[in-house]
Amino acid sequence: MPELPEVETSRKDLEEFFTGASLTVCRILDRRIRIGDSCSSLPGDGWVGTGIGRHGKTLILGFSKKGQGKEAGGPQEIGEVLFLLSRFGMSGGWRRIDTSRNPPHTHLEIRFSDRHSRLVWIDPRRFGRIEFTKSPDKSSLLSHVGPDTLSVSPDEFEEIVRNTSRSLRGALMDQRLLAGIGNIYMAEILFRAGLSPFRKGRSLNRREARVLYSSLQSILRAAISEGGSTIHSFTREDGRNGGYQKLHLVYGREGQPCFQCGLPIQKVVLESRSLYYCSFCQSPGKSTSRSISRRDSLEN
Ligand SMILES: [Zn+2]
Repeated sequence: MPELPEVETSRKDLEEFFTGASLTVCRILDRRIRIGDSCSSLPGDGWVGTGIGRHGKTLILGFSKKGQGKEAGGPQEIGEVLFLLSRFGMSGGWRRIDTSRNPPHTHLEIRFSDRHSRLVWIDPRRFGRIEFTKSPDKSSLLSHVGPDTLSVSPDEFEEIVRNTSRSLRGALMDQRLLAGIGNIYMAEILFRAGLSPFRKGRSLNRREARVLYSSLQSILRAAISEGGSTIHSFTREDGRNGGYQKLHLVYGREGQPCFQCGLPIQKVVLESRSLYYCSFCQSPGKSTSRSISRRDSLEN
């Protein structure tokens, strides 16, 4: 399932195409994928794409309608605004399409007067969701999620992670605490930090929380620069695969030697999800600073 780096890759891939584009029509082809009821009408003729944002695993397309009324008493002309939120689920994603026919499993299309391509939402397995809303903060996709993981400050992160009784594995993946991380990057981040996935968040000292924060930032940024990880179905909007799966240190490496200590990577299944870790480098009693210095000496 796409996590923050994959969704950010889609955002970057589509931003230039979408921003400033003039719409002619937006059509929903399968209503089952739509949620929320805050908007009765869809953007169409007279609407412009204003940009693409992201919060956690949710992509946010912004639209505005030009020349709509004036703010009472204000000098500035304000346009109507609308946002299209999308959560990729297992197989959802945006594509630019030039052909006359839509690909199979296209559930929504947006056409433009000044773009050769149209933008389509494709989701074969239909676990993804889209929602039109005037207020993203109050939407069903975002109203119950925590701060975006990439935007959170070191202090905010420490506050969140050291105040939960959840395991580090559970805490990093809990979207109500932090939005963006799933099974793949949780494993990679904890390995890089040298922390056991089974330790409780509140057992971390301040230094360990900082090490975890810097691991999280560097893993997510490296994954974004590689275009995310293609594991099952994620591809970029032009069909290319991401590249970060080739750099995974533990995820998907069951039984293979740990890059740090040489012992086999462990895999356990918890809540029907696979957890990968090194039982030596991430043993609960292990000092984080020691594992970091070991790794630094290996990298240098
Ligand atoms: Zn190891």
